[in-house]
Amino acid sequence: MKLPLLLFLLLNGLITPLFSFSWLAQSELVIIKDEAIVDFPETVTFRLELDVEEPIVEATLIYHLGREGCLAAGTQVPVEVKGSNLEWTWVMSRSGNPPPGAKMSWHWEVTDASGNTITTPGKELTFADDRFEWRTIEGKDPRHSAPIRLHWYEGEEVGPILLEAAVAGLERLQQDTGIELQGEVEFFIYADSADMREALLYVQDWAGGIAFTDYNTILIGVPPHLAETWGSSTVRHELAHLVINQFSLSCLGGSLPNWLSEGLAVYAEGEPDGQTLKDIEEGVEEDSFQPVRSLNGSFPAQGEAASAAYSQSYSLVDYLLDSYGQEKMQELLLALAGAAGYDAALEQVYGFNADGLETAWRREIGAPLRQIPPTPTPILAANVPTAVPLNAAQSWPTPPAPDAIPVTSAPVDSAPDPGRNSGICGLGLAPFLLFIGLSTMAITRNKSKKGLE
Ligand SMILES: [Zn+2]
Repeated sequence: MKLPLLLFLLLNGLITPLFSFSWLAQSELVIIKDEAIVDFPETVTFRLELDVEEPIVEATLIYHLGREGCLAAGTQVPVEVKGSNLEWTWVMSRSGNPPPGAKMSWHWEVTDASGNTITTPGKELTFADDRFEWRTIEGKDPRHSAPIRLHWYEGEEVGPILLEAAVAGLERLQQDTGIELQGEVEFFIYADSADMREALLYVQDWAGGIAFTDYNTILIGVPPHLAETWGSSTVRHELAHLVINQFSLSCLGGSLPNWLSEGLAVYAEGEPDGQTLKDIEEGVEEDSFQPVRSLNGSFPAQGEAASAAYSQSYSLVDYLLDSYGQEKMQELLLALAGAAGYDAALEQVYGFNADGLETAWRREIGAPLRQIPPTPTPILAANVPTAVPLNAAQSWPTPPAPDAIPVTSAPVDSAPDPGRNSGICGLGLAPFLLFIGLSTMAITRNKSKKGLE
C-alpha cells in the first residue's frame, strides 16, 4: 500500500492503528483494543487490551456523559488490574440509565511497574437504543433556533406530524414569551408507552413520556393513530418544559412554582381546548378555583381536580402574558432562576405576591374574589415539595396515551388507570429517579385529558 493511501485511511479512521502516536514515545505500551460495548439500557462494558513490556499496576477509567448539567464532571473509576486486559462494566441498574442518544466519551489512565503513566486517546460512543429501526427527521423553526431531531420507527406519518407539532409549539412559545430553545433537541418517539418504558431502567410504570432536561432529550410513547391528537399536544407540552427549564433553572438552585411551569407548558400546546375552557368556566361559576399559593406545589394526582389545576395554571399564565407581556415573564423566570422565593420574585417583577396575583387574575376573568388572610405564611421555593431540586436533569413522566396501557407487562388491575381526566403532574419528587448521584427528576404529567377526547 502506498504511503499516502495508508495515511489517508488512518486520518479518516478507516483503519484502526494498533497504537497511538501520542504516547508511543512515553512507554512501550501498545493498544490492541479499546472499546465500549453497549447493552441497552442495562450496561456499558469498557475494555482495554494492551500489549505491554512491563506489568500494569494501576488503571483508571475516566468517562463523561455529554450533558448540559452544572456538574458535568467526568467520573473516575479505579479498575482492578489483572494482566494486560482491563475491563469495567457500568451497571446502570443502580444509577438509572441516560436516555437513548446520550453521548459518552472515555479514556484510560494506565501506570506500569516502572511508574510510566499513559493516557489513551479519548473515544466516544452513543448510548443507542438499537432495539428498533429508527428513522430520523429534522427541522427547525424559522427563527433559526437549534434544530429539533425526531426519531421514530412506526407509522409513516408519525415523524412529520410530530415534528410539525414541535416546531409550532416552539414558535408559539418563542413568540409569546420570547424564550428560545438552546441547543439541539432529540425526540425519541416509541410506538407505545411499553416500548418507551423498556428504554428506561427507572420510570414509573404508568409513564408515557419523559423529558431529560440535561440531555435535551424527550421520550414519548405515541401510538401512530394518536399522533395528530395526544401525540402532538404532548410533544408541545414536553418541549415547553425543556425550553423553560433551560432558561430558568440555574445552577444557583432556582425553581419554578408548579402553576407557572405547567401553565407555560399547557400554554405552549396551543389554543386552549374545550376541556380547558370548560374547567375555567366552571371555576368561575362554581367559585371552585384553588388558591394560587396552593398550586405552587403538587397538583392533585388525578381526576377532575387535576384537570382543573392545569386549566387554572394555564389561565394564570395567559393572564400574566396578556396583561404584562413577555419581558415581565422572562424577568420572573430569571428572578426564580436566581433562587428568589416565589413571592419575592412575583413582588419584584409585578409588584404583587401570589395572593395579589390571585386577586388580580380573579378580577380579570370575572371570578368571585376570595377572602385571603392578610399575612400568609411566605412560601419559599426551597420548601415546596415539587420544586425542582438541585440543578441537574429533570424529567417529566407523562401518562401514556389513553389506549396505550401495556397489556402484557403488568396485570390489568395493577396497571395505572390513565382514567378520564387523570393527571399525574406534580405528584412530587421521584426519589427512585436519583440519577447518577447528581440529578433528581420531578414528576409531572401531560395534560392527559387532551388525549382522552
Ligand atoms: Zn407538564
